[in-house]
Amino acid sequence: MIIQLDQIRELYIEAFRWFAPKREIPPIHISFYPYIGINHTIRIRDGQIFVRIGEICHEMPLPCHKGLAYILVGKLLRKKIPAGARAVYSAYIKSDAIREKASASKRARGRKVVTTSKGAVYDLDEIFAGLNLQYFGNAIPEPVLTWSANKTYRILGHHDATHEHIAISRSLDSRDVPKFVVEYVVFHEMLHIHHPTQHVNGRKYNHTPAFKRDEEKFAYYTEAERWIERNVRRLKREAKR
Ligand SMILES: [Zn+2]
Repeated sequence: MIIQLDQIRELYIEAFRWFAPKREIPPIHISFYPYIGINHTIRIRDGQIFVRIGEICHEMPLPCHKGLAYILVGKLLRKKIPAGARAVYSAYIKSDAIREKASASKRARGRKVVTTSKGAVYDLDEIFAGLNLQYFGNAIPEPVLTWSANKTYRILGHHDATHEHIAISRSLDSRDVPKFVVEYVVFHEMLHIHHPTQHVNGRKYNHTPAFKRDEEKFAYYTEAERWIERNVRRLKREAKR
């Protein structure tokens, strides 16, 4: 059974209401994050709550998610966490299967190519935040943003809706690439979140007319398109190094 993020979000709303019945509930964004081992984070930014649940808990049953929701929201609000919440969550975390997964993920750490949002030149988190404010009124929930492990050139950006993940080609993390080009590629991937895939008669449509109209609203649309057209061959050459 696959638990929907919406179902998990409900639990955080419930926990928030339980700890702070009189406070207005801020927008809450839930995502899974490829943390090493067992790790989760909750934070408030611009009046919105961002919860990142460790990938390891992807198959955690809903009642344990409820326990985790009370733990994280309680920590955020500096309230006493109910013992029942801890009990139901730790029962899951302490299970053999999860312990095994956690140590396997730690073992894999050394081999894994570390991908982060901070490149040598450009910081994707910063670029995302700027675009989100300028073009989307901060409405796009922050996905996992990473530079690709390899310098791909054919695909400059990729959005994975299932994992809420945007990967940008590392070939763009260079002083030779103008910032507006990186912004344009991130902007394009953000539009995929803003305009989810349309299914019509069994066909999938990603770049709908509405998507394309919005894409042209990018301040440097023409310049960015032109730059990519002129430089793709050079990126391709560099990618082979
Ligand atoms: Zn696209």
